[in-house]
Amino acid sequence: MKFSELTSMEEKIDQPLHEVVLLSQMLEDGSDPIELRNKTRIILDAMLDICEKNYGRAQKTLTGLCGDNAHLFSRWQPQMMGEFNYFATVTALSVIEANAAMGRIVACPTAGSCGVVPAMAYALRKIKKISIDCLVDALIVAGAVGKCIAQTVSISGAVAGCQAEIGTATAMASAMAVYSLSKDSKRVSHAAALSLKSLMGLVCDPVGGFVEIPCVKRNAVAVNIAISTAEMALCGIRSVIPLDEVIEAMARVGRSLPEELRETGLGGIASTKTATDLLEKIRGESL
Ligand code: SF4
Repeated sequence: MKFSELTSMEEKIDQPLHEVVLLSQMLEDGSDPIELRNKTRIILDAMLDICEKNYGRAQKTLTGLCGDNAHLFSRWQPQMMGEFNYFATVTALSVIEANAAMGRIVACPTAGSCGVVPAMAYALRKIKKISIDCLVDALIVAGAVGKCIAQTVSISGAVAGCQAEIGTATAMASAMAVYSLSKDSKRVSHAAALSLKSLMGLVCDPVGGFVEIPCVKRNAVAVNIAISTAEMALCGIRSVIPLDEVIEAMARVGRSLPEELRETGLGGIASTKTATDLLEKIRGESL
């Protein structure tokens, strides 16, 4: 599926984009739009609940490689960040640390990138006071962005690098913010394209193959990229390269990434001396 097909259909039938996404899904597999909307509401509720329960919580990760970052950051008086960015960053750290501590999460699109979209949803709800109904609409649109990427590239770091996981999550979160705040599908596509271009080629290099380093902090940075691309798109800044073409380029980049940079734990920061030393220490402790 191409995102431009959805926006063309939107113009033809003169319905808001989230309704078009539901309709397109019904045409594709017979899904009932009302049921699909209800399912999306359940997913959104789960995301918000997880954010609420974990916000600023002190949590050690499974291996102890990292942890407690959300707690530390939640007690910090931000020096440069505004309220929205700060709140979203604490939330992203909190959710991804819950994942690394084997807590309950919503994989969106994956477990490794589970902090980005929920952090955006929670910040939109708590700081911008966006209604639940509007967030459901926006999550439906974000899901369509994710689906376009999944069908053309992949949402797996093992297949196309971290651009496919964190990159996709960032594009989805950015799309969600723009749709919540404007309902403008063209701006949504620019926000998603700007996000993917910013993260194109991002490698998947988890230390020891554990979804901890660099994944935890990468989620927190990613939500800030989503906020800045959404803000740019909202003000009318365009991506010169259309979203569908950016996604196709991302697929080509993913295919050209060497195996070491696709979740094998063999390249990037996973191959540094410190990473190797840390892994040896963990192995020593578990003997
Ligand atoms: S580095 Fe790899 S494992 Fe970690 S979030 Fe990115 S794609 Fe997932």
